[in-house]
Amino acid sequence: MNPQSEIERLRREIERHDRLYYIEAQPEISDAEYDALMRRLIELEKEYPELLTVDSPSQRVGGAPLEGFKSVAHSQRMLSLANAYSFEELEDFDRRVRETLEAPYGYFCELKIDGVAIALRYRSRLLELGITRGDGSVGDDVTTNLRTIRGIPLRAPEFAPPDFEVRGEVYMQTDDFLKMNEERELAGENKFANPRNSTAGSLKLLNTKEVTKRPLRAFIYDLRGVENPTLHSECLNLMEELGLPVNKNRRLCGDLREVWDFCEEWHDKRHALPYEIDGVVLKIDSLPQRGALGSTAKSPRWAIAYKFPAQQAKTLLKGITLQVGRMGYITPVAELEPVYLAGSTIKRATLHNEDEIARKDIRVGDTVIIEKGGDVIPKVTSVDLGERPEDSTPFIMPGICPACGAKLVREADEVMRRCPNVACPPQRLGRIKHFASRGGMDIEGLGESTVQQLLDSGLISDFGDLYYLTKAQLLPLERMAEKSAENLLQGIDSSKDRTLDRLIYALGIKLVGAGAARILNERFGNIDELAKADVEKLEAIDEIGPGIAQSVVDFFANPSNRKVLEKLRKAGVRFSAEKGGGEVEMVFEGMTFVLTGALENFTREEAAELIRARGGKVVSSVSKKTSMVLVGENPGSKHRKAVELGVKVMEEGEFVKIIEGRNE
Ligand code: NAD
Repeated sequence: MNPQSEIERLRREIERHDRLYYIEAQPEISDAEYDALMRRLIELEKEYPELLTVDSPSQRVGGAPLEGFKSVAHSQRMLSLANAYSFEELEDFDRRVRETLEAPYGYFCELKIDGVAIALRYRSRLLELGITRGDGSVGDDVTTNLRTIRGIPLRAPEFAPPDFEVRGEVYMQTDDFLKMNEERELAGENKFANPRNSTAGSLKLLNTKEVTKRPLRAFIYDLRGVENPTLHSECLNLMEELGLPVNKNRRLCGDLREVWDFCEEWHDKRHALPYEIDGVVLKIDSLPQRGALGSTAKSPRWAIAYKFPAQQAKTLLKGITLQVGRMGYITPVAELEPVYLAGSTIKRATLHNEDEIARKDIRVGDTVIIEKGGDVIPKVTSVDLGERPEDSTPFIMPGICPACGAKLVREADEVMRRCPNVACPPQRLGRIKHFASRGGMDIEGLGESTVQQLLDSGLISDFGDLYYLTKAQLLPLERMAEKSAENLLQGIDSSKDRTLDRLIYALGIKLVGAGAARILNERFGNIDELAKADVEKLEAIDEIGPGIAQSVVDFFANPSNRKVLEKLRKAGVRFSAEKGGGEVEMVFEGMTFVLTGALENFTREEAAELIRARGGKVVSSVSKKTSMVLVGENPGSKHRKAVELGVKVMEEGEFVKIIEGRNE
């Protein structure tokens, strides 16, 4: 491939992974794989400087501001860090430093916390603003979300400088993350790939109440906006005295050998830490010397991250099994000779899909390299071809379902094969489990083994049948005592009154997760109204894309789904939203709102949701096109601007009246 096309291919690929990682918080490849792509790009751009462009991902800081949050400009650019992967690369870095600095200098070493960078501004010693890194110049205002983190002081002590800024990393402890993921699985929600991703996902939540449930923590490693001290190490001590959460594992090093000792020490000890680190950051300790070194567009010249090699292990791939999900999608799974890797024994790892297997040419009998992506969830990254048995043959994805024998289908735009048989046993089981899950109808006492028993005994064939079970039918089942039968029936009965968003989610409509279910509930408030909606009407809702719209229509058009719905209706399962049900009126149809000031009855996000549910849009800045500015207590410059531009202003009382339909 010629260098130009390789560069272009790499840029496109990296941009795609940036989007998956920073915006969607759902990366497809491990950090080590990503870093390898980036290194290759940088290498080529160095070799062919005429091909370097300012918009290359090698020149930019990761993310981009997100929708739904106010964008805030950083006081000073918030940069990424250059990476080193070996002692030699640290020596290169040190050589470059020496070219600029004449006086002796010290390196300060810290752990590189694998989390999400934030900046916190304190004004008059109060936490005023918390911002994500964003694209380095502009980040998202996530103050309300950051306020939920207990370790971040809302007020600095009296002896603190009145105005200052600190920067640090929000993260999740590994055990908290695993527990949260378990709960998500039980609730039928998508699991996060690793603690870093769940941290990024949590900071992006628009509903702060949800954020309080996420076990977020923070470490602070940078102080700005004060004249003294002039050493970074002293800044850290000062921040510690101010009550900010500063990591204790840090060291001032006189030379590179000492730095390397610190790196090696933590490479070995990292798994004893309750949180994940992906390396060590070394920084010039003197702030004036940092100033002399300056920065590139992407990273400071006075710091570098030494990244630990990815945690890998080699093991035998004994077989490839196929797992059938509740939607019928087939996931190939690697069955491995058990091997210990970074804190746990690995027996199985995902192979994602058949294209992935073909791309990596993974064969049964191969010795494979496994890696913990972001160090938690294992995956097979490559094959040791030197150890491949002579008689090995490429893996061929079976054409029939391993569970029911139906012919598998693969749509043109999908990477996974699917079993189209809705009666396929694992799909049935999966659908009923999903229906009863905590995020769905939350039926107590109905775990996987009970669902399996009920299916095996022929007492149910879909979730609609659950509501017609009797005690006499349950008692003959194994391990089903009088009390447990009663509890199960009680659990099923109380699920009839769940809120409508839960029911919509529990139905298991393709692509409709808890978020989309909530939106559909707000918009329709009634299952029958939702069932009547066509693609056009669904797509007209801001957050509903064409994929979800089509999938909702397909679901309700399917006769077997209609049958199940009738069973639910006859059993008395609630089909309409809590307050009177029915469709909410589109009183704000076509209107654009800006919110300012503190509202008494709602958080900003709650108010925004109410507006959106009634057909309106919410944007962050006032312009001539704004239809209405909703003002709360102490409104700011947006209120002034609205008055200047002659944009209508609505007070909270009036807003409440409209929402409650009392707009006489
Ligand atoms: P980075 O994570 O390599 O390093 C910079 C960040 O380190 C800083 O912004 C800060 O948030 C953090 N940090 C942690 N502890 C620190 C400390 N003690 N002092 C200073 N900073 C500290 O760089 P990045 O720009 O945030 O992200 C790029 C990296 O993200 C890539 O190298 C890759 O590993 C990963 N990534 C992965 C994918 C993927 O698809 N897997 C995609 C994009 C990026």
